[in-house]
Amino acid sequence: MAALQSLVQKRNPHRSEMPLSLPSKAPYAPKLVLVLRTETSSSQHSIPLPRVPLPGFRGRFKLLLPERASQMLVVMKAHATPEEVSAVCNKIESLGYRAHSIPGAERTAIGITGNKGEVQPGALEEMPGVQEVIPVTKPYKLVSRDMKPENTVISFPGSDATFGGSGLAIIAGPCAIESREQAFAIAERVHRAGAQFFRGGAYKPRTSPYSFQGLGEEALRIMSEIRDHFGMKIVTEAIDHESLELVEQYADVIQVGARNMQNFSLLKRVGRSRKPVLLKRGMSATLEEFLMAAEYVMSEGNYKVALCERGVRTFADHTRNTLDLSLIPAVQRLSHLPIFVDPSHGTGKRNKVTPLSRAGVAVGADGLLIEVHCDPDRALSDGMQSLYPDQFDALMSQVRQIAAVVGRTVPAIGGPRVPASDASSKDLRAAQ
Ligand code: PEP
Ligand code: MN
Repeated sequence: MAALQSLVQKRNPHRSEMPLSLPSKAPYAPKLVLVLRTETSSSQHSIPLPRVPLPGFRGRFKLLLPERASQMLVVMKAHATPEEVSAVCNKIESLGYRAHSIPGAERTAIGITGNKGEVQPGALEEMPGVQEVIPVTKPYKLVSRDMKPENTVISFPGSDATFGGSGLAIIAGPCAIESREQAFAIAERVHRAGAQFFRGGAYKPRTSPYSFQGLGEEALRIMSEIRDHFGMKIVTEAIDHESLELVEQYADVIQVGARNMQNFSLLKRVGRSRKPVLLKRGMSATLEEFLMAAEYVMSEGNYKVALCERGVRTFADHTRNTLDLSLIPAVQRLSHLPIFVDPSHGTGKRNKVTPLSRAGVAVGADGLLIEVHCDPDRALSDGMQSLYPDQFDALMSQVRQIAAVVGRTVPAIGGPRVPASDASSKDLRAAQ
């Protein structure tokens, strides 16, 4: 197998045929492992080869690559120099292809034609001045950085809070609004700790129909009072068209939950709303499916979309879900949309929320979504993953320090933003 792998690695990437030979006394059933990679996914295929009783085996493989896989575009960084652009063009030509350099207002894109097989992006991707090498057959357009190289920043009238700006957006509150008292008690604490966005479910998508389903419009009214009282913006989920009609009236941000990430009619309806949307990743959604869901919303004219990684289903049973932090840089590479991390649903365990919040900020998230409850043992939903308010205070203080390292700021306790470097480093090591 090692011999096969090195053969595959060593072969000229632009040849469609490769000679293959196996060691003479192969003591194993030979297999050819093909790893097929696209920009956003990879799959592995194992092809059994005939067992070879005789010394030596010679074969010939034909790799037929679809024509469309060869359509590539090199997107140069905005500040790429003319020398860097021509070095990339020369490299493309030296590989036997034609380079078409197309300068744009922001940056230069270089189209590649004349290639019979697949262009290996690796050779070009690492060259100075190259931002990325992309297949032009990408299914998503509006979410893509090709369309809009600069980050999207969503602002909120009457507030300096943003999604995607230099300040981190902290969304905190209970899983569900259970009563006015419960919601106000939590709101008071998260506001004091610096959260500028208050979350709470009015409509809860529950696994069991017998579990608490949310207070509906009453919860929306409570949250709107919380906005008036504390000045926090309200984030809450719409689970269907009916609830969306009301959520749209009361909320500042419409959340689309993991279970609805591919509810295409809801996505289209949300796309016709004027309110910003927080779109959570489906439990088994690939990056491409996630971006396509955002594309649905944007294709209807609502460009105020933020994404949220909330963990995916895996075999792991030490957490509720597996929080996929690698998604953050992957999204940021492909899309201009802000991306959040939700370590509450991502882990389902209170003791893992703070460490993964720190990690989420370190990896470059634009914000966090954190569940907080004053009495989590009696919470009507997601108590196990809800932080006590004191723990949320500690989280904020730690996150403030991490933010400084990645050049972000966080809201100060109950007041204006302070540079994150003002926070003391001892908090970082504080017990959770
Ligand atoms: C929530 O944020 O309360 C929620 C239900 O999240 P998710 O859709 O990610 O499960
Ligand atoms: Mn929840």
